[in-house]
Amino acid sequence: MVVPQPIQNQLKKEAFYGCVICGCPVLEFIDFTLTGIQVDKPPPRQEVFLPENMVAICPSHNQKLQAGKIDTTFLRLSKNNPFSKIHDDLAFKTTSSKELTVSLGGCTFINTSRLLVVDDFDLINVRRLDQRFLILDVNFFDRSNKLAAILFENGWSSERSRIGDWTIEYLRPKRLLLQNSRENMNLEARIENDTELRIVGDGLYYNNQKIKITPHEVFLGDREIGIDTKGSVLTNYDVGIRAESLIF
Ligand SMILES: [Zn+2]
Repeated sequence: MVVPQPIQNQLKKEAFYGCVICGCPVLEFIDFTLTGIQVDKPPPRQEVFLPENMVAICPSHNQKLQAGKIDTTFLRLSKNNPFSKIHDDLAFKTTSSKELTVSLGGCTFINTSRLLVVDDFDLINVRRLDQRFLILDVNFFDRSNKLAAILFENGWSSERSRIGDWTIEYLRPKRLLLQNSRENMNLEARIENDTELRIVGDGLYYNNQKIKITPHEVFLGDREIGIDTKGSVLTNYDVGIRAESLIF
């Protein structure tokens, strides 16, 4: 089922942009009147979406819910008192009022949303919404150039048949970890000192070239990219690191 974008936005906002149970900023949108023990059956086809019966939760808690390990009464309570509202200090947001600082591959970008762009295709974007919550877009391509998963404005969609390959954790304090065991893919987005977002990752691909992001370098295939901006602090740039997958 595809939940219409305006309803997704409403559910994200009321959840303070995190899973209502754990604060994880990777979200799925579910109708808790339709859930239960139905692991082996496909979810019922849904055509009407009532936000009052729906909630934003992370994929891990969604799996627990589908396995019958989470009570819908508890879910309803959490909807009304989401984690990121109660635990303001653990919500995926920064405290600095004006600027968004991101550290990526040895470079610091301030107020730059498009962080990593290859062949004019945006692979990693980040921006801030009201109350300084961080909103991520990440396209996870695998080695055969297929989209394994998409994180779009914190909404998660992955290939349904392979959902078990992903482990998505929100660790304290403010450390988001996404791992795909089958593809050896991982991405970490961590807010440090409540002010700076640091991103590292490995095993993501674009156009069959592996992307590796360490605290000091970004590699596309065996080439280091973003060398010209390395070690600098760049403010209000259109694109952080831009590269081409083919060199002529
Ligand atoms: Zn959760």
